[in-house]
Amino acid sequence: MSFQINRQLAHLHDCDVLVIGGGPAGTAAAISAARMGKDAALVERSGQLGGMMTLGNVAIFMPVGRVTGLYAELVATHCKEFYTWGKSYPRCQFNAVNMRYDCLRRAAEAGVKIFFHTEFLSVLKNGAGEPCGIAAHTREGLGAITGKILVDCTGDAHAAIDAGAAYSTGRPGDGATQPMTLMFEMQDTGKAAEPYIPEGAYRYGSVDELPQGRVLYFDRNNEGRVLVNMTRVRGNGTDFFNAANAELEAMKQMYGVAEYLQKNIFPNHCISSAAPQVGVRQTRQIEGEYKLTADDLINGSKFSDVVTQTNYEVDIHNPTGKGGTEEYPVKFYDIPYRCMLPKNVTKLLVAGRCISADHTAMSSLRTIPTCLGLGQAAGVAASAAIDDGCALKDVNIEKLHAGLKSQGVQFFDDAQ
Ligand SMILES: Cc1cc2nc3c(=O)[nH]c(=O)nc-3n(C[C@H](O)[C@H](O)[C@H](O)COP(=O)(O)OP(=O)(O)OC[C@H]3O[C@@H](n4cnc5c(N)ncnc54)[C@H](O)[C@@H]3O)c2cc1C
Repeated sequence: MSFQINRQLAHLHDCDVLVIGGGPAGTAAAISAARMGKDAALVERSGQLGGMMTLGNVAIFMPVGRVTGLYAELVATHCKEFYTWGKSYPRCQFNAVNMRYDCLRRAAEAGVKIFFHTEFLSVLKNGAGEPCGIAAHTREGLGAITGKILVDCTGDAHAAIDAGAAYSTGRPGDGATQPMTLMFEMQDTGKAAEPYIPEGAYRYGSVDELPQGRVLYFDRNNEGRVLVNMTRVRGNGTDFFNAANAELEAMKQMYGVAEYLQKNIFPNHCISSAAPQVGVRQTRQIEGEYKLTADDLINGSKFSDVVTQTNYEVDIHNPTGKGGTEEYPVKFYDIPYRCMLPKNVTKLLVAGRCISADHTAMSSLRTIPTCLGLGQAAGVAASAAIDDGCALKDVNIEKLHAGLKSQGVQFFDDAQ
């Protein structure tokens, strides 16, 4: 059974660049478009910017090589001790609350019009059949927001797919995606902490029994906080039932993991916070004008239309949900602009973890710094297309690079 709705939508807003989703990619896209002098708007279903970085409490930048662009601005603010522009640095843990404020402040100061608590529903098309806006659900009900260029930063490619983009899901063969993880934090209380195991929660007696079959936490800060990445729930984050089930399953694991850590490593720490929602690593990849592959990572491919660079490893959490993670190093590689251009769709770019890439390449490019870099490039490219009145696929790459340079982005031959 299916239903159709036919509703008149109030026209809420018109802009140049309309960004859908306010994670690392969306935040960067909106800020960079605004910094290019464009009227930028951003639609976000939650009440904060940062996506997984804040909503998922993934409060750590994985190292990607050179630090430039908006990413460099964030490292300089949140990880001062590691910061040297254009250099590499180790993993950098930050405070998600401070990052949440900083993303919002930067977006507001750039002049981005932010629509919080607003859920993308559908792409609206003009008489020529091209995307020209979105239908969205706001706190006031349904409405339309229009824009000259749309940038899909939902992580799940919701808007691109609605506009007609083809996509793939997960690994070849069975389409299984990397599992979901509820990030949580433990805080040093200064005295022995009493483990809390509520009814239904799991218990783990050994490392092998832990959900990921390993201990993985980050405590590189001066605040006695431990950021724990140890739960693991199989499923696809765009499957309604998988996503709903993961919220309970991950919490059952969280209590057990915390008890394990209290008994074995952190006797004085207790759970101080859990992310507001389970973290989703991988859902869909659009079919773009270029598909980044594992070979590109292994060979360190270079592209004339490079928009961001990384050397973050292949990092595939076991899609079966069992223990084990496939990890191996890669060369410093370029990601080309064409990965953000969905085939057969005009007026819409895709930035963030759902760009065009195979399962292996996605596991490396999904890091926060790379999503920031992709978003920043999308904002500049959208701006260039508007200035030149050209199609997104015809954006002048020299102009795109000049725009990125004006925002502190630089490309290098090697990671360092
Ligand atoms: C558990 C976990 C651990 C990770 N660990 C690390 C790590 O240690 N270091 C690292 O660098 N990276 C890590 N990553 C990867 C990284 O966090 C993500 O890949 C990255 O945040 C993706 O950025 P994005 O902007 O593409 O999407 P997201 O961060 O997913 O943001 C998408 C945004 O779009 C919004 N949205 C979605 N649909 C709609 C809609 N219909 N309407 C309106 N808004 C919508 C969402 O609310 C969200 O704010 C981890 C990821 C997970 C899940």
